[in-house]
Amino acid sequence: MRRAGLAEVLDTFGPAYLATRPLPRGGAKVWRAITACRTAALGGHLEACDACGQHRHVYHSCRNRHCPQCQTRAKEAWLAARRREVLQVPYFHLVFTLPHSLNGLVAADPRTLYDLLFASVAATLTEFAASPRHLGGTPAFSLVLHTWTQDLRRHVHLHALVAGGALGPHGEWLRPKKGFLFPVRARSRVFRGKFIAALAPPTVNACGLPPAEWARLKSQCYAHDWVVYAKQPLGGPDAVLEYLGRYTHRVAISNERIVGIEGE
Ligand SMILES: [Zn+2]
Ligand SMILES: [Zn+2]
Ligand SMILES: [Zn+2]
Repeated sequence: MRRAGLAEVLDTFGPAYLATRPLPRGGAKVWRAITACRTAALGGHLEACDACGQHRHVYHSCRNRHCPQCQTRAKEAWLAARRREVLQVPYFHLVFTLPHSLNGLVAADPRTLYDLLFASVAATLTEFAASPRHLGGTPAFSLVLHTWTQDLRRHVHLHALVAGGALGPHGEWLRPKKGFLFPVRARSRVFRGKFIAALAPPTVNACGLPPAEWARLKSQCYAHDWVVYAKQPLGGPDAVLEYLGRYTHRVAISNERIVGIEGE
């Protein structure tokens, strides 16, 4: 028997629900994927152990990004890959936030705005690490995009897991002077400057902003410091990665949230 999960809920209550409420095409496709995942419907293959000769039959996965079974596996694979990249040095956790005055543009052209966000944060971190006043080397960091708060309001920010130091020109590891790696206020200014410079026309107009509105949007963007937040991760880089992975591979209802199935 399968343990209680989203697929079992859909199997149990689905037919009655679908009889009165037809799904849009996209929703129907996700539904089919989730209910077929790792069942005979998707076929399977036989795995054999070279050592003991035991065989077992394995059903194929749907790989749909809304499927709780598949996302749990994808998260584990993502985490394992990130853990292999982690260096044996202290890490810092920074969060770079886009002001909400840009939310309208994000809705109109998310792809472009997210690309600009990644590029301006990466350029900011690289510039500070390269500066002889700070480290004078090449930084090491992972960036993870978050676009919503837990209560599903749009809040675009980038988490940066940054190694405390930089790779020097002769392959040596440069430690931060005075233990002070992140002049947060200065970084916030540089990040904002780079982002706005990259967003300036013609880019912003290609995203759908009428030319006459750029001056107003730009002054709104400069009206406040952009939030950059830094802290030393308490549980080390592993704990931060675990937290980021949960968000990155989140599904609307994970199987852990389903405690049991009752009724008919
Ligand atoms: Zn075996
Ligand atoms: Zn699946
Ligand atoms: Zn976040």
